[in-house]
Amino acid sequence: MDQKLRLLWKKETIAFVLLFTLCLWNYKYTDALDQDPYLITDYSRLHPVKVEKVVAGKEKEQLIQLIKEAKRKHLTISIAGQRHSQGGHTYYKDGIVIDMTSYNKILAFDPAKKKITVQAGATWKEIQEKINPYHLSIKTMQSQNIFTVGGSISINAHGRDIRNGSMIKSVESFRLLTAEGKIIQVSRTENADLFPLVLGGFGLYGVILDVTLTLTDDELYRMTTGSVSVDHYTDYFLQQVKGNPKMRMHIARISIAPSNFLQDMYVLNYKQEKSVPFTKYNQLEEREKWIIPSKIGFQINRNFDWGKEVFWKLQRKFIFSQNNKLISRNNVMRSESEFMEYKGIGENDLLQEYFIPVHQFAPFVADMRKVLKGSNVNLLNITVRYVNKDQEATLSYANSDMFALVCLFHVSLDDKGQKAFRGHIQQIIDVAEKYHGTYYLPYAPYPTVKQYQRAYPNYQRFYQKKNQYDPDHLFMNYFYQQYVKESGS
Ligand SMILES: Cc1cc2nc3c(=O)[nH]c(=O)nc-3n(C[C@H](O)[C@H](O)[C@H](O)COP(=O)(O)OP(=O)(O)OC[C@H]3O[C@@H](n4cnc5c(N)ncnc54)[C@H](O)[C@@H]3O)c2cc1C
Repeated sequence: MDQKLRLLWKKETIAFVLLFTLCLWNYKYTDALDQDPYLITDYSRLHPVKVEKVVAGKEKEQLIQLIKEAKRKHLTISIAGQRHSQGGHTYYKDGIVIDMTSYNKILAFDPAKKKITVQAGATWKEIQEKINPYHLSIKTMQSQNIFTVGGSISINAHGRDIRNGSMIKSVESFRLLTAEGKIIQVSRTENADLFPLVLGGFGLYGVILDVTLTLTDDELYRMTTGSVSVDHYTDYFLQQVKGNPKMRMHIARISIAPSNFLQDMYVLNYKQEKSVPFTKYNQLEEREKWIIPSKIGFQINRNFDWGKEVFWKLQRKFIFSQNNKLISRNNVMRSESEFMEYKGIGENDLLQEYFIPVHQFAPFVADMRKVLKGSNVNLLNITVRYVNKDQEATLSYANSDMFALVCLFHVSLDDKGQKAFRGHIQQIIDVAEKYHGTYYLPYAPYPTVKQYQRAYPNYQRFYQKKNQYDPDHLFMNYFYQQYVKESGS
Protein backbone atom coordinates (compact mmCIF):
# COMPACT_ATOMS: atom_id res chain seq x y z
CA MET A 1 0.00 0.00 0.00
CA ASP A 2 1.42 3.38 -0.84
CA GLN A 3 1.61 6.12 1.77
CA LYS A 4 -1.54 7.95 0.58
CA LEU A 5 -3.72 4.85 0.58
CA ARG A 6 -2.58 3.84 4.05
CA LEU A 7 -3.43 7.29 5.39
CA LEU A 8 -6.87 7.16 3.80
CA TRP A 9 -7.52 3.69 5.19
CA LYS A 10 -6.52 4.87 8.65
CA LYS A 11 -8.83 7.87 8.43
CA GLU A 12 -11.73 5.74 7.22
CA THR A 13 -11.25 3.22 10.02
CA ILE A 14 -11.20 5.99 12.61
CA ALA A 15 -14.31 7.55 11.05
CA PHE A 16 -16.07 4.17 11.06
CA VAL A 17 -15.23 3.52 14.72
CA LEU A 18 -16.43 7.01 15.63
CA LEU A 19 -19.69 6.62 13.72
CA PHE A 20 -20.30 3.18 15.15
CA THR A 21 -19.82 4.46 18.67
CA LEU A 22 -22.01 7.48 17.98
CA CYS A 23 -24.77 5.18 16.77
CA LEU A 24 -24.43 3.01 19.86
CA TRP A 25 -25.03 5.93 22.19
CA ASN A 26 -27.27 8.11 20.11
CA TYR A 27 -30.40 6.01 19.77
CA LYS A 28 -33.24 7.64 21.61
CA TYR A 29 -35.24 6.12 24.37
CA THR A 30 -38.83 6.31 23.12
CA ASP A 31 -41.52 4.31 24.76
CA ALA A 32 -44.73 4.83 26.68
CA LEU A 33 -42.96 7.33 28.94
CA ASP A 34 -42.47 9.77 26.10
CA GLN A 35 -46.03 9.46 24.91
CA ASP A 36 -48.11 9.54 28.10
CA PRO A 37 -47.85 12.80 30.09
CA TYR A 38 -49.35 11.16 33.21
CA LEU A 39 -46.89 8.27 33.25
CA ILE A 40 -43.97 9.46 35.31
CA THR A 41 -40.58 8.28 36.53
CA ASP A 42 -37.27 9.91 37.41
CA TYR A 43 -33.67 9.90 36.19
CA SER A 44 -33.50 6.13 36.73
CA ARG A 45 -36.39 5.33 34.34
CA LEU A 46 -37.28 2.57 36.80
CA HIS A 47 -40.80 2.04 38.12
CA PRO A 48 -42.96 4.34 35.96
CA VAL A 49 -46.46 4.98 37.35
CA LYS A 50 -49.55 6.99 36.44
CA VAL A 51 -50.14 10.13 38.45
CA GLU A 52 -53.27 12.26 38.76
CA LYS A 53 -51.54 15.37 37.44
CA VAL A 54 -48.28 17.30 37.36
CA VAL A 55 -48.71 20.93 38.41
CA ALA A 56 -46.07 23.58 37.80
CA GLY A 57 -45.49 25.52 41.05
CA LYS A 58 -45.94 29.23 40.42
CA GLU A 59 -47.43 31.11 43.36
CA LYS A 60 -47.63 30.62 47.10
CA GLU A 61 -51.47 30.93 47.01
CA GLN A 62 -51.72 28.37 44.21
CA LEU A 63 -49.71 25.86 46.28
CA ILE A 64 -51.91 26.41 49.33
CA GLN A 65 -55.00 25.77 47.18
CA LEU A 66 -53.35 22.62 45.83
CA ILE A 67 -52.89 21.28 49.36
CA LYS A 68 -56.57 21.97 50.08
CA GLU A 69 -57.60 20.26 46.84
CA ALA A 70 -55.47 17.18 47.57
CA LYS A 71 -56.96 16.89 51.06
CA ARG A 72 -60.48 17.29 49.77
CA LYS A 73 -59.99 14.62 47.12
CA HIS A 74 -57.87 12.33 49.34
CA LEU A 75 -54.91 12.56 46.98
CA THR A 76 -51.24 12.52 47.91
CA ILE A 77 -48.68 15.18 47.00
CA SER A 78 -45.12 14.55 45.83
CA ILE A 79 -42.61 17.30 45.18
CA ALA A 80 -40.18 17.38 42.27
CA GLY A 81 -37.17 19.50 41.34
CA GLN A 82 -35.02 18.34 38.43
CA ARG A 83 -35.96 14.71 39.28
CA HIS A 84 -32.35 13.54 39.36
CA SER A 85 -33.03 11.43 42.43
CA GLN A 86 -33.41 7.83 41.33
CA GLY A 87 -35.72 5.99 43.69
CA GLY A 88 -39.23 7.33 43.13
CA HIS A 89 -38.64 10.19 45.58
CA THR A 90 -40.54 12.68 43.40
CA TYR A 91 -43.81 10.94 42.58
CA TYR A 92 -46.42 8.49 43.82
CA LYS A 93 -49.08 6.44 42.08
CA ASP A 94 -52.33 8.38 41.41
CA GLY A 95 -51.07 11.42 43.33
CA ILE A 96 -50.39 15.06 42.46
CA VAL A 97 -46.81 16.00 41.58
CA ILE A 98 -45.74 19.59 42.17
CA ASP A 99 -43.00 20.49 39.73
CA MET A 100 -41.04 23.22 41.51
CA THR A 101 -38.69 24.07 38.63
CA SER A 102 -40.82 27.07 37.66
CA TYR A 103 -40.83 28.36 41.25
CA ASN A 104 -37.35 29.76 40.86
CA LYS A 105 -37.02 33.48 41.56
CA ILE A 106 -34.13 35.03 43.42
CA LEU A 107 -35.88 36.90 46.23
CA ALA A 108 -33.09 38.69 48.09
CA PHE A 109 -29.33 39.00 47.90
CA ASP A 110 -27.13 40.74 50.44
CA PRO A 111 -23.50 40.63 49.24
CA ALA A 112 -22.19 42.35 52.40
CA LYS A 113 -23.79 39.74 54.67
CA LYS A 114 -22.99 36.96 52.16
CA LYS A 115 -26.57 35.70 52.07
CA ILE A 116 -29.06 34.88 49.36
CA THR A 117 -32.75 33.94 49.50
CA VAL A 118 -34.15 31.99 46.56
CA GLN A 119 -37.32 30.13 45.70
CA ALA A 120 -36.73 26.40 46.03
CA GLY A 121 -36.92 25.63 42.30
CA ALA A 122 -33.93 27.87 41.50
CA THR A 123 -30.89 25.97 40.27
CA TRP A 124 -27.30 26.42 41.45
CA LYS A 125 -26.54 27.76 37.98
CA GLU A 126 -29.02 30.61 38.47
CA ILE A 127 -27.47 31.45 41.83
CA GLN A 128 -23.93 31.32 40.42
CA GLU A 129 -24.87 33.75 37.68
CA LYS A 130 -26.28 36.17 40.26
CA ILE A 131 -23.42 36.03 42.79
CA ASN A 132 -20.36 35.61 40.58
CA PRO A 133 -19.99 39.36 39.79
CA TYR A 134 -19.87 39.96 43.57
CA HIS A 135 -16.99 37.48 44.01
CA LEU A 136 -19.17 35.22 46.10
CA SER A 137 -19.67 31.48 45.89
CA ILE A 138 -21.88 28.69 47.18
CA LYS A 139 -20.44 26.89 50.20
CA THR A 140 -21.58 23.37 49.37
CA MET A 141 -23.25 21.92 46.30
CA GLN A 142 -22.98 18.95 43.98
CA SER A 143 -20.24 18.82 41.31
CA GLN A 144 -22.78 19.95 38.70
CA ASN A 145 -24.95 23.06 38.88
CA ILE A 146 -28.08 21.69 37.20
CA PHE A 147 -29.97 20.72 40.37
CA THR A 148 -32.63 22.72 42.23
CA VAL A 149 -31.88 24.15 45.65
CA GLY A 150 -35.02 22.49 47.08
CA GLY A 151 -34.10 19.07 45.67
CA SER A 152 -30.53 19.42 46.90
CA ILE A 153 -31.24 20.46 50.49
CA SER A 154 -33.98 17.83 50.69
CA ILE A 155 -31.35 15.16 50.18
CA ASN A 156 -28.64 17.10 52.09
CA ALA A 157 -26.22 16.90 49.15
CA HIS A 158 -22.44 17.25 49.24
CA GLY A 159 -19.67 17.98 46.74
CA ARG A 160 -15.99 18.73 46.20
CA ASP A 161 -15.59 21.26 49.01
CA ILE A 162 -13.65 19.68 51.89
CA ARG A 163 -14.12 22.43 54.49
CA ASN A 164 -17.84 23.31 54.62
CA GLY A 165 -19.40 19.87 55.18
CA SER A 166 -22.74 18.66 53.83
CA MET A 167 -25.36 21.10 52.57
CA ILE A 168 -27.31 21.43 55.82
CA LYS A 169 -24.47 23.55 57.22
CA SER A 170 -24.98 26.31 54.65
CA VAL A 171 -28.75 26.60 55.11
CA GLU A 172 -29.72 29.42 57.44
CA SER A 173 -33.50 29.13 57.20
CA PHE A 174 -36.38 28.26 54.91
CA ARG A 175 -40.15 28.66 54.66
CA LEU A 176 -42.19 25.48 54.67
CA LEU A 177 -45.73 24.94 53.44
CA THR A 178 -47.00 22.29 55.84
CA ALA A 179 -49.58 19.54 55.52
CA GLU A 180 -52.01 21.85 57.35
CA GLY A 181 -51.64 24.39 54.54
CA LYS A 182 -49.74 26.84 56.79
CA ILE A 183 -46.52 28.63 55.87
CA ILE A 184 -43.95 28.57 58.66
CA GLN A 185 -40.40 29.87 59.02
CA VAL A 186 -37.91 27.15 59.96
CA SER A 187 -34.38 27.77 61.22
CA ARG A 188 -32.13 26.63 64.05
CA THR A 189 -34.17 28.88 66.36
CA GLU A 190 -37.70 28.96 64.88
CA ASN A 191 -39.63 25.70 64.56
CA ALA A 192 -36.20 24.22 65.15
CA ASP A 193 -37.53 20.69 65.53
CA LEU A 194 -38.27 20.60 61.80
CA PHE A 195 -34.89 21.91 60.62
CA PRO A 196 -32.94 18.61 60.78
CA LEU A 197 -35.95 16.62 59.60
CA VAL A 198 -36.72 18.61 56.45
CA LEU A 199 -33.07 18.97 55.39
CA GLY A 200 -32.40 15.47 54.17
CA GLY A 201 -36.14 14.76 54.56
CA PHE A 202 -36.97 13.91 50.92
CA GLY A 203 -40.03 16.17 50.64
CA LEU A 204 -41.96 14.26 53.30
CA TYR A 205 -42.64 17.15 55.71
CA GLY A 206 -43.95 19.82 53.33
CA VAL A 207 -43.09 22.03 50.40
CA ILE A 208 -39.94 24.13 50.90
CA LEU A 209 -40.94 27.46 49.37
CA ASP A 210 -37.79 29.52 49.72
CA VAL A 211 -34.39 29.12 51.29
CA THR A 212 -31.79 31.48 52.77
CA LEU A 213 -28.27 30.23 52.18
CA THR A 214 -25.01 31.55 53.58
CA LEU A 215 -22.33 32.13 50.96
CA THR A 216 -18.57 32.18 50.95
CA ASP A 217 -15.93 34.07 48.94
CA ASP A 218 -15.19 33.05 45.40
CA GLU A 219 -11.47 32.23 45.34
CA LEU A 220 -8.77 31.43 42.85
CA TYR A 221 -7.45 27.88 42.95
CA ARG A 222 -4.40 26.21 41.47
CA MET A 223 -5.13 22.66 40.38
CA THR A 224 -2.65 20.01 41.48
CA THR A 225 -2.82 16.41 40.35
CA GLY A 226 -1.14 13.15 41.27
CA SER A 227 -1.34 9.36 41.47
CA VAL A 228 -1.72 7.31 44.58
CA SER A 229 -2.63 3.73 45.37
CA VAL A 230 -5.84 2.83 47.19
CA ASP A 231 -3.69 1.60 50.10
CA HIS A 232 -1.98 4.98 50.54
CA TYR A 233 -4.88 7.27 49.77
CA THR A 234 -6.02 7.92 53.37
CA ASP A 235 -2.52 9.00 54.47
CA TYR A 236 -2.14 11.10 51.34
CA PHE A 237 -5.47 12.84 51.94
CA LEU A 238 -4.95 13.51 55.63
CA GLN A 239 -1.41 14.81 55.28
CA GLN A 240 -1.39 16.61 51.96
CA VAL A 241 -4.99 17.69 51.50
CA LYS A 242 -6.89 18.00 54.78
CA GLY A 243 -3.70 18.89 56.65
CA ASN A 244 -2.97 21.81 54.32
CA PRO A 245 -5.32 24.73 55.09
CA LYS A 246 -4.84 26.13 51.57
CA MET A 247 -6.42 23.04 50.04
CA ARG A 248 -10.09 23.85 49.61
CA MET A 249 -11.51 21.25 47.26
CA HIS A 250 -10.61 17.74 46.23
CA ILE A 251 -11.76 14.74 44.25
CA ALA A 252 -10.13 11.44 43.38
CA ARG A 253 -10.99 8.57 41.05
CA ILE A 254 -10.33 4.87 41.45
CA SER A 255 -9.38 2.87 38.37
CA ILE A 256 -12.01 0.49 37.05
CA ALA A 257 -9.68 -0.70 34.25
CA PRO A 258 -9.36 -4.52 34.44
CA SER A 259 -5.53 -4.40 34.68
CA ASN A 260 -5.57 -2.45 37.97
CA PHE A 261 -9.19 -2.78 39.04
CA LEU A 262 -9.85 -0.76 42.23
CA GLN A 263 -6.13 -0.36 42.95
CA ASP A 264 -4.80 2.82 41.31
CA MET A 265 -6.15 6.29 41.85
CA TYR A 266 -5.59 9.78 40.57
CA VAL A 267 -6.25 12.88 42.65
CA LEU A 268 -7.23 16.41 41.78
CA ASN A 269 -6.79 19.17 44.37
CA TYR A 270 -7.77 22.82 44.36
CA LYS A 271 -5.31 24.92 46.34
CA GLN A 272 -5.96 28.54 47.18
CA GLU A 273 -3.74 30.86 45.06
CA LYS A 274 -3.36 34.43 46.29
CA SER A 275 -0.29 35.54 44.34
CA VAL A 276 -2.13 35.92 41.02
CA PRO A 277 -4.76 38.65 40.41
CA PHE A 278 -8.16 36.96 40.65
CA THR A 279 -9.92 39.37 38.27
CA LYS A 280 -8.41 37.59 35.25
CA TYR A 281 -10.16 34.34 36.14
CA ASN A 282 -13.50 35.25 37.66
CA GLN A 283 -15.70 35.12 34.54
CA LEU A 284 -18.00 32.10 34.46
CA GLU A 285 -16.68 29.73 31.82
CA GLU A 286 -18.68 28.08 29.05
CA ARG A 287 -19.14 24.44 30.00
CA GLU A 288 -19.98 21.29 28.04
CA LYS A 289 -17.25 22.06 25.49
CA TRP A 290 -16.10 18.47 25.09
CA ILE A 291 -19.43 16.65 24.89
CA ILE A 292 -18.84 14.65 21.69
CA PRO A 293 -15.36 13.25 22.48
CA SER A 294 -16.37 12.68 26.12
CA LYS A 295 -19.54 10.84 25.06
CA ILE A 296 -17.56 8.63 22.70
CA GLY A 297 -14.95 7.88 25.37
CA PHE A 298 -17.67 7.08 27.89
CA GLN A 299 -19.50 4.85 25.43
CA ILE A 300 -16.34 2.80 24.84
CA ASN A 301 -15.89 2.62 28.62
CA ARG A 302 -19.47 1.35 28.89
CA ASN A 303 -19.18 -1.38 26.27
CA PHE A 304 -15.73 -2.92 26.30
CA ASP A 305 -13.09 -4.07 28.77
CA TRP A 306 -10.39 -2.69 26.48
CA GLY A 307 -12.46 0.50 26.43
CA LYS A 308 -12.18 0.74 30.21
CA GLU A 309 -8.37 0.53 29.90
CA VAL A 310 -8.29 3.19 27.18
CA PHE A 311 -10.76 5.47 28.97
CA TRP A 312 -8.88 5.30 32.27
CA LYS A 313 -5.61 6.21 30.51
CA LEU A 314 -7.25 9.07 28.61
CA GLN A 315 -8.99 10.38 31.72
CA ARG A 316 -5.71 10.35 33.68
CA LYS A 317 -3.90 12.07 30.85
CA PHE A 318 -6.56 14.74 30.65
CA ILE A 319 -6.55 15.32 34.42
CA PHE A 320 -2.75 15.52 34.54
CA SER A 321 -2.82 18.04 31.68
CA GLN A 322 -4.78 20.30 34.07
CA ASN A 323 -1.91 20.38 36.59
CA ASN A 324 -1.05 23.94 37.63
CA LYS A 325 -4.05 25.40 35.83
CA LEU A 326 -5.79 28.29 37.59
CA ILE A 327 -9.54 28.21 38.03
CA SER A 328 -12.10 30.08 40.12
CA ARG A 329 -14.13 28.26 42.76
CA ASN A 330 -17.35 29.04 40.89
CA ASN A 331 -15.97 27.45 37.74
CA VAL A 332 -14.97 24.29 39.63
CA MET A 333 -18.60 24.03 40.72
CA ARG A 334 -20.04 23.84 37.20
CA SER A 335 -18.50 20.71 35.86
CA GLU A 336 -19.82 18.86 32.81
CA SER A 337 -22.58 16.32 33.19
CA GLU A 338 -24.23 16.03 29.80
CA PHE A 339 -21.66 13.58 28.47
CA MET A 340 -22.80 11.07 31.10
CA GLU A 341 -26.47 11.19 30.15
CA TYR A 342 -27.59 7.95 28.60
CA LYS A 343 -30.81 7.05 26.78
CA GLY A 344 -30.39 3.40 25.80
CA ILE A 345 -33.51 1.26 25.52
CA GLY A 346 -33.90 -1.01 28.56
CA GLU A 347 -30.58 0.08 30.08
CA ASN A 348 -29.32 2.99 32.11
CA ASP A 349 -26.35 4.33 34.04
CA LEU A 350 -27.30 4.44 37.72
CA LEU A 351 -25.50 5.88 40.70
CA GLN A 352 -24.96 4.27 44.07
CA GLU A 353 -22.87 5.85 46.81
CA TYR A 354 -21.11 4.60 49.95
CA PHE A 355 -19.79 6.69 52.84
CA ILE A 356 -16.79 5.09 54.50
CA PRO A 357 -14.90 6.37 57.59
CA VAL A 358 -11.60 7.85 56.43
CA HIS A 359 -9.41 5.18 58.06
CA GLN A 360 -11.47 2.30 56.67
CA PHE A 361 -11.12 3.31 53.04
CA ALA A 362 -8.48 0.80 51.87
CA PRO A 363 -9.98 -2.32 53.52
CA PHE A 364 -13.45 -1.34 52.28
CA VAL A 365 -12.23 -0.97 48.69
CA ALA A 366 -10.35 -4.31 48.94
CA ASP A 367 -13.55 -6.07 50.05
CA MET A 368 -15.65 -4.28 47.45
CA ARG A 369 -13.17 -5.50 44.87
CA LYS A 370 -13.80 -9.09 45.98
CA VAL A 371 -17.57 -8.61 45.57
CA LEU A 372 -17.24 -7.12 42.10
CA LYS A 373 -14.29 -9.05 40.65
CA GLY A 374 -16.13 -12.29 39.89
CA SER A 375 -19.42 -10.61 38.99
CA ASN A 376 -20.74 -9.32 35.70
CA VAL A 377 -21.51 -5.90 37.19
CA ASN A 378 -20.54 -3.14 34.77
CA LEU A 379 -18.88 -0.46 36.91
CA LEU A 380 -18.19 2.70 34.88
CA ASN A 381 -16.37 4.88 37.37
CA ILE A 382 -15.83 5.66 41.06
CA THR A 383 -15.31 9.21 42.21
CA VAL A 384 -14.12 9.79 45.77
CA ARG A 385 -14.94 12.91 47.76
CA TYR A 386 -14.63 13.88 51.39
CA VAL A 387 -17.41 14.95 53.71
CA ASN A 388 -17.13 16.17 57.31
CA LYS A 389 -19.03 14.55 60.15
CA ASP A 390 -22.62 15.79 60.37
CA GLN A 391 -24.57 15.30 63.59
CA GLU A 392 -27.36 17.68 62.69
CA ALA A 393 -29.50 16.05 59.97
CA THR A 394 -31.80 13.36 61.38
CA LEU A 395 -30.98 11.07 58.45
CA SER A 396 -27.28 11.99 58.42
CA TYR A 397 -25.11 9.77 56.22
CA ALA A 398 -21.87 11.03 57.78
CA ASN A 399 -21.70 9.85 61.36
CA SER A 400 -17.93 10.47 61.24
CA ASP A 401 -15.55 12.11 58.73
CA MET A 402 -16.16 10.08 55.61
CA PHE A 403 -14.97 9.40 52.12
CA ALA A 404 -17.92 9.27 49.73
CA LEU A 405 -17.44 6.70 46.97
CA VAL A 406 -19.79 7.66 44.15
CA CYS A 407 -20.16 4.63 41.89
CA LEU A 408 -21.69 4.75 38.44
CA PHE A 409 -22.96 1.41 37.12
CA HIS A 410 -24.36 0.48 33.74
CA VAL A 411 -27.41 -1.69 34.39
CA SER A 412 -30.14 -3.52 32.61
CA LEU A 413 -33.58 -2.26 33.61
CA ASP A 414 -35.37 -5.58 33.07
CA ASP A 415 -36.45 -7.71 36.04
CA LYS A 416 -33.67 -10.28 35.66
CA GLY A 417 -30.94 -7.64 35.39
CA GLN A 418 -32.37 -5.64 38.29
CA LYS A 419 -32.61 -8.70 40.54
CA ALA A 420 -28.99 -9.65 39.95
CA PHE A 421 -27.80 -6.07 40.38
CA ARG A 422 -29.79 -5.63 43.61
CA GLY A 423 -28.02 -8.67 45.10
CA HIS A 424 -24.57 -7.20 44.37
CA ILE A 425 -25.52 -3.79 45.78
CA GLN A 426 -26.77 -5.39 48.97
CA GLN A 427 -23.47 -7.24 49.30
CA ILE A 428 -21.53 -3.98 48.91
CA ILE A 429 -23.70 -2.34 51.56
CA ASP A 430 -22.94 -5.27 53.91
CA VAL A 431 -19.26 -4.53 53.32
CA ALA A 432 -19.81 -0.81 53.98
CA GLU A 433 -21.56 -1.72 57.21
CA LYS A 434 -18.68 -3.97 58.24
CA TYR A 435 -16.47 -0.85 58.12
CA HIS A 436 -19.03 1.39 59.92
CA GLY A 437 -20.04 3.03 56.68
CA THR A 438 -23.41 4.10 55.29
CA TYR A 439 -24.96 4.51 51.87
CA TYR A 440 -26.75 7.39 50.10
CA LEU A 441 -30.55 7.56 50.09
CA PRO A 442 -31.40 9.50 46.87
CA TYR A 443 -30.60 6.56 44.63
CA ALA A 444 -32.49 3.44 43.50
CA PRO A 445 -33.96 1.39 46.37
CA TYR A 446 -31.78 -1.71 46.24
CA PRO A 447 -30.85 -1.86 49.95
CA THR A 448 -33.01 -3.91 52.31
CA VAL A 449 -35.13 -2.29 55.03
CA LYS A 450 -32.75 -3.77 57.63
CA GLN A 451 -29.78 -2.19 55.86
CA TYR A 452 -31.60 1.16 55.91
CA GLN A 453 -32.25 0.84 59.63
CA ARG A 454 -28.64 -0.04 60.42
CA ALA A 455 -27.23 2.76 58.26
CA TYR A 456 -29.68 5.35 59.63
CA PRO A 457 -30.10 4.69 63.37
CA ASN A 458 -32.49 7.68 63.72
CA TYR A 459 -34.97 5.99 61.40
CA GLN A 460 -37.61 5.65 64.14
CA ARG A 461 -37.50 9.34 65.02
CA PHE A 462 -37.87 10.19 61.32
CA TYR A 463 -40.93 7.94 61.09
CA GLN A 464 -42.53 9.21 64.31
CA LYS A 465 -42.01 12.86 63.38
CA LYS A 466 -43.49 12.27 59.93
CA ASN A 467 -46.61 10.92 61.61
CA GLN A 468 -46.68 13.88 64.00
CA TYR A 469 -46.34 16.58 61.31
CA ASP A 470 -48.23 14.83 58.52
CA PRO A 471 -50.58 12.29 60.16
CA ASP A 472 -52.67 11.78 57.00
CA HIS A 473 -49.56 11.18 54.88
CA LEU A 474 -50.35 13.93 52.43
CA PHE A 475 -46.72 14.17 51.32
CA MET A 476 -45.87 10.83 49.83
CA ASN A 477 -43.25 9.13 47.69
CA TYR A 478 -41.70 5.69 47.18
CA PHE A 479 -38.85 6.36 49.62
CA TYR A 480 -41.51 6.70 52.34
CA GLN A 481 -43.38 3.62 51.21
CA GLN A 482 -40.35 1.36 50.77
CA TYR A 483 -38.23 2.38 53.77
CA VAL A 484 -39.72 4.88 56.23
CA LYS A 485 -43.12 3.19 56.59
CA GLU A 486 -41.72 -0.32 56.43
CA SER A 487 -39.29 0.33 59.24
CA GLY A 488 -41.84 2.17 61.39
CA SER A 489 -44.60 -0.40 61.30
C1 LIG B 1 -25.64 12.86 37.26
C2 LIG B 1 -25.88 13.06 38.73
C3 LIG B 1 -24.89 13.63 39.50
C4 LIG B 1 -25.08 13.82 40.87
N1 LIG B 1 -24.08 14.37 41.62
C5 LIG B 1 -24.25 14.53 42.94
C6 LIG B 1 -23.22 15.11 43.75
O1 LIG B 1 -22.18 15.52 43.27
N2 LIG B 1 -23.45 15.21 45.09
C7 LIG B 1 -24.62 14.81 45.67
O2 LIG B 1 -24.77 14.94 46.88
N3 LIG B 1 -25.61 14.29 44.92
C8 LIG B 1 -25.44 14.14 43.59
N4 LIG B 1 -26.45 13.61 42.84
C9 LIG B 1 -27.74 13.36 43.48
C10 LIG B 1 -28.56 14.66 43.40
O3 LIG B 1 -27.93 15.64 44.19
C11 LIG B 1 -29.95 14.46 43.92
O4 LIG B 1 -30.62 13.55 43.16
C12 LIG B 1 -30.73 15.79 44.04
O5 LIG B 1 -31.90 15.55 44.75
C13 LIG B 1 -31.03 16.33 42.69
O6 LIG B 1 -31.74 17.54 42.76
P1 LIG B 1 -33.12 17.63 41.99
O7 LIG B 1 -33.44 19.07 41.78
O8 LIG B 1 -33.08 16.77 40.78
O9 LIG B 1 -34.08 17.00 43.08
P2 LIG B 1 -35.28 15.95 42.87
O10 LIG B 1 -34.70 14.65 42.48
O11 LIG B 1 -36.30 16.52 42.00
O12 LIG B 1 -35.84 15.85 44.36
C14 LIG B 1 -35.08 15.22 45.37
C15 LIG B 1 -35.89 15.15 46.66
O13 LIG B 1 -36.16 16.47 47.11
C16 LIG B 1 -37.57 16.67 47.30
N5 LIG B 1 -37.86 18.06 46.93
C17 LIG B 1 -37.52 18.69 45.77
N6 LIG B 1 -37.90 19.98 45.83
C18 LIG B 1 -38.49 20.16 47.04
C19 LIG B 1 -39.12 21.27 47.68
N7 LIG B 1 -39.21 22.47 47.11
N8 LIG B 1 -39.65 21.08 48.91
C20 LIG B 1 -39.56 19.88 49.53
N9 LIG B 1 -39.00 18.80 48.97
C21 LIG B 1 -38.47 18.94 47.74
C22 LIG B 1 -38.23 15.65 46.39
O14 LIG B 1 -39.52 15.32 46.84
C23 LIG B 1 -37.26 14.49 46.49
O15 LIG B 1 -37.55 13.72 47.62
C24 LIG B 1 -26.29 13.41 41.48
C25 LIG B 1 -27.30 12.83 40.70
C26 LIG B 1 -27.10 12.66 39.34
C27 LIG B 1 -28.18 12.01 38.53
